[in-house]
Amino acid sequence: MELQHLLRKHEDAIASSIVLEQGKTYADAKGDLLRGLQVVETATGIPSALLGNTIEVSKDMDTSTRRLPLGVCASIAPFNFPAMIPLWTIPMAIATGNTLIVKPSERDPGAAMIIAELCQRAGLPAGVLNIVHGTVPTVNAICDHPKIKAISFVGGDRAGHHIYERGRKTGKRVQANLGAKNHAVVMPDANKNHALNSLIGAAFGAAGQRCMAISVAVLVGNSQQWIPELVERVKKLKVNQGFEGGADLGPVISTASKARIEGLIASAEEQGGKIVLDGRGHQVPGYPNGNWVGPTIIEATADMRCYKEEIFGPVLVVIPADTLDDALAIINANKYGNGTAIFTQSGATARKFEVEVEVGQVGINVPIPVPLPMFSWSGNKASFLGDIPFYGRSGIDFYTQNKTTTALWKAEDAIGNEASVDMPTHH
Ligand code: NAD
Repeated sequence: MELQHLLRKHEDAIASSIVLEQGKTYADAKGDLLRGLQVVETATGIPSALLGNTIEVSKDMDTSTRRLPLGVCASIAPFNFPAMIPLWTIPMAIATGNTLIVKPSERDPGAAMIIAELCQRAGLPAGVLNIVHGTVPTVNAICDHPKIKAISFVGGDRAGHHIYERGRKTGKRVQANLGAKNHAVVMPDANKNHALNSLIGAAFGAAGQRCMAISVAVLVGNSQQWIPELVERVKKLKVNQGFEGGADLGPVISTASKARIEGLIASAEEQGGKIVLDGRGHQVPGYPNGNWVGPTIIEATADMRCYKEEIFGPVLVVIPADTLDDALAIINANKYGNGTAIFTQSGATARKFEVEVEVGQVGINVPIPVPLPMFSWSGNKASFLGDIPFYGRSGIDFYTQNKTTTALWKAEDAIGNEASVDMPTHH
């Protein structure tokens, strides 16, 4: 509870660090912290979730379970949510009785450092939370250390597969949230204003560098006619430095990332896609060296690289579909399963989508359907590796192991009872 209070008190310092190092806008950086703070809030109520079970399995014999911590755990974080993702693991690992080593992204470790200091000020004993910095060698040392019992990883596919394999070799429990390609289906009966605004916020917010960003819009039937209006609205977004008033999205994380994103946009051109809004070579006055990529919209098909690969930038790929069934077939054929959304005014359409779509987090008229932390993260397919997902009930399961005790205390052996002189008939 004290950590919750301190995080709220120092939200400006944490958000400022995120804007400076990561580049997202100040308002969005506050959202980054808020979504992590919600995990802290949920963890304050953890005792009732840690209750064990007891049952009398035979006369005078009880079996009871207790949840025990694993010991030393580790958390390896990506660059895109410098506060939220460390806070997915810090409260859960510690409230369940473990110690935790956090390796923040080497690209923006500042927020994790402030959070660690606030944990210390909140009274966390020395050694319970430890921050280590570095890149691959640091990660490998975590994977190989025999005393580390579990790793929570969030990041890209390549690092995630490596960490999963290497960590498992030394018997560790590993949960790994990986890449994504999130589709939003826009039905012709959708509330157009809500659907377009939701698409825009979810595709271009944080410069598209969210694992739950909508990166593909599947426009069904007549909603394909909304593309010109979508483009007009997107043109109004302001790309600027995160502290500048009115900025809607900031730069991407690095020059390498900018080059990769622009390369994927170019690949669409080469493969016959139509770039209806081109953000390559975007300039922002006063910041000539920024890693700017302007909002980009590409009309494409499912066989193109820009559709198949995670772009992780402010790029929305638009795919046409004739029917809801066609849209479902496109989404279900995609290897990722992090998030998806449908925009419709029909309960029946929403119901069919929700039941048939093979994606772990579904939004109905909600573009970024990340559940609050009393639930668990539920991305699936190639977006998750491991068995037990992040936070919520699963988070408790991930960071604990059960011990069962079966005890026999015969009531007849109680001291001070009277001797029986009758012939015994049972034991
Ligand atoms: P990244 O994989 O490059 O880095 C993540 C972490 O792994 C960092 O701490 C980094 O130091 C380490 N790392 C990087 N390469 C490594 C390697 N070869 N071996 C060992 N460790 C390595 O990811 P990123 O660029 O920081 O983050 C973006 C990615 O994260 C995107 O793919 C995005 O979809 C994903 N992501 C997923 C979720 C989710 O919940 N599914 C959430 C946020 C981000």
